[in-house]
Amino acid sequence: MTRTASVGVDVDSLRHYYRIHGLDEGSATNAAWAVGVPRFVELFGEVGVPATFYCIAEDLEVPGNAARLRALVDAGHEIGNHTWHHRYDLTRLSPAERRAEVACGRARLEDAAGAPVVGFRSPGYNTDAALQADVIAAGHTYDSSVFPCAPYYLAKAGVMGAMRLAGRRSQSVLGTPRVLAAPRDPYDADGDEPHRRGPSGLRQYPVSVAAGVPLIGTAFTALGRAGSLAAVAAGHALRRHLTLEFHAVDLLGLRDDGLDPALAVQPDLKAPVARKRRVFRHLLSWLARRRAFVRLDSLP
Ligand SMILES: [Zn+2]
Repeated sequence: MTRTASVGVDVDSLRHYYRIHGLDEGSATNAAWAVGVPRFVELFGEVGVPATFYCIAEDLEVPGNAARLRALVDAGHEIGNHTWHHRYDLTRLSPAERRAEVACGRARLEDAAGAPVVGFRSPGYNTDAALQADVIAAGHTYDSSVFPCAPYYLAKAGVMGAMRLAGRRSQSVLGTPRVLAAPRDPYDADGDEPHRRGPSGLRQYPVSVAAGVPLIGTAFTALGRAGSLAAVAAGHALRRHLTLEFHAVDLLGLRDDGLDPALAVQPDLKAPVARKRRVFRHLLSWLARRRAFVRLDSLP
């Protein structure tokens, strides 16, 4: 069987970073869309890989973003649903609000893209049976919201605890520890418990973790080229499918792009863009020589 890989980019606009760190979002700009997204398109073009851009429908209200979304489709990329407003507390909303976040997000993105949107990614990687039922009802065929990564889970718990102690409120939700026991390879998710195999009609593509390292942009930036390659190579040896994940801000830089210094709370933004780009490019081209990069909407 051919081994495959996919790469996703969560296009979280900067206001969500202000929110998650409990900062005033008044200074947020559209740089994730206007600068980060085109840099990723250029990078994927150079390496020759198609990607899925998980977008927040609310961002389409910002002038220029709908055209940027269509440009992604024209460049051969897939659009995934990252909900209407990217509510970190999605699993705690009322059933009607939650359903609207999922279904209206998909409908608005599909309208703007002029292409089918069949993939879903939850804000903050939290899912449960009720959310999964909404994801299916809204017409998605796959989900990529499970992130079975103990270091990430523990770090998130630690940061949220520290913020509470400091009297600051993060809008993040920790989610169930059952995620840590979820399968590492793509699986058909159970309707009663999305973190295990079972019948529901929804395919789950967990974000890959190898040798304890999540195969995501922030980890690659922190580890640098050699450390990241070791993790990607470990994943390559183990998994029939690898799901890599980036965020649009992974190719932004505080200094390079003159961003608000308050965003230094997001440590990887302090790294120079050129260095991050070199690391990402190296990993993607290494992997593209060894397995086929596919769009998730093309898999059975
Ligand atoms: Zn997000």
